[in-house]
Amino acid sequence: MFQRILIANRGEIALRVIRACRELGIESVAVFSEADRGAHYLKLADEAYCIGNAPASESYLQINRIISAAEIGNVQAIHPGYGFLAENAHFAEVCRSCNIEFIGPPHKAMEELGDKNSARRIAADAKVPTVPGSEGLITDDSSAAELANRIGYPVLIKATAGGGGKGMRVARNDISLKAGLKAAAQEAEKAFSNAGVYIEKYVERPRHVEVQVLADTHGNVVHLWERDCSLQRRHQKLVEESPAPNLPLSVRQEMCKAAVRLVKSAGYTNAGTCEFLVDKDHKFYFIELNARIQVEHPVSEEISGVDLIKEQIRVAAGEHLKLKQRNIKVNGAAVEVRINAEDPDNDFRPSPGRITDLRIPGGGGIRWDSHVHQDYVVGPYYDSMIGKLIVHRDTRADAFATMRRALAEMHVGGIKTTIPLLRRIFDDAAFNDGNVDTTYVERTF
Ligand code: ADP
Repeated sequence: MFQRILIANRGEIALRVIRACRELGIESVAVFSEADRGAHYLKLADEAYCIGNAPASESYLQINRIISAAEIGNVQAIHPGYGFLAENAHFAEVCRSCNIEFIGPPHKAMEELGDKNSARRIAADAKVPTVPGSEGLITDDSSAAELANRIGYPVLIKATAGGGGKGMRVARNDISLKAGLKAAAQEAEKAFSNAGVYIEKYVERPRHVEVQVLADTHGNVVHLWERDCSLQRRHQKLVEESPAPNLPLSVRQEMCKAAVRLVKSAGYTNAGTCEFLVDKDHKFYFIELNARIQVEHPVSEEISGVDLIKEQIRVAAGEHLKLKQRNIKVNGAAVEVRINAEDPDNDFRPSPGRITDLRIPGGGGIRWDSHVHQDYVVGPYYDSMIGKLIVHRDTRADAFATMRRALAEMHVGGIKTTIPLLRRIFDDAAFNDGNVDTTYVERTF
């Protein structure tokens, strides 16, 4: 087992990994930018090194500086968290070539799956259903139009290097297709330095259901069931829950089996998530594999009793998975909300500033994963999530009642947050009935 691990991340997920290390008896080395200097969570690590200025491009994305910190800190492994370099195959390769284990999959699998279009091909080879669409990248407008007419409008133009909902455009006819291809390629080039786009059938009002998988380096793969993340705003998740409501067990089992098949055939190891869209007839289609721990991982931890970060570390150290599929049961129901420093009354613009007053809910069934505290200053540089509130109860109805109570207790003063929107969501009848799709929030709120 590793003696020391560096965490190449910040905020909530850095603290989550620090905590897992502490419980495993592993020393943790944190890194921070000038904007995060003095943050309280850094004091919980055994050591912390400054790696540059506030902009991520000058700190958390600086591979050289992170590797230098890892060498000074004398660590055997790096945990990348999510975001920043977490899905950067080059970073994984650099770590390993410096004899530092990257706590994640092999870089080759990351490369192949990180490109969404090539991931579609791998999925198809593993007999995992994908959304009907282009076989390769779009090269010219006329063949794109031909394809769009063949699969039928509406179609979705997607960036092959895409993430965070960027570089996506719905096209409902040849004219909007032509304009959309150009706009999506430009947006993708700007955001990911890769203008490659492809086309998928636009699934109308789908649910987003994803499967958590865990694979060791000895060929053992298990799944930890699914999470329903249909409640989104502009393709960004707001609420996640497990198990997925109103989805027959047989469908859930088929999806989980498909995810395991895909992971095996891709030679993937460590924790990962297979994302699927589910249509009204409960047909499911693979959309992408996320080669990292995800924001919403606590939901699966709560229902399965498995600590995913600890498992990631064990698997990266070469240990065999001790988990057996038949022993991984869905225990009760869990739900998570993301609390963002955003102003719901002003188009969800970031709302940085000092948290002048913070009241965290407590009591049975509640988990709060966050690095913030009273007087913490939310900066303008990084993503706006300030914490995750997670509830675990015996039934979905009980979990929702506890979440409603927790959101009523919660108070964050000094900045605007998404809490008022979340309260309304948990009062919504259709959501309580498990009757929503990925477009619901925008249509209803
Ligand atoms: P990203 O990596 O940018 O998050 P994804 O491929 O994971 O992009 O898709 C994000 C969200 O976009 C999905 O959860 C879903 O809401 C929507 N989406 C993606 N593909 C389709 C599709 N073919 N039809 C309808 N909605 C889609």
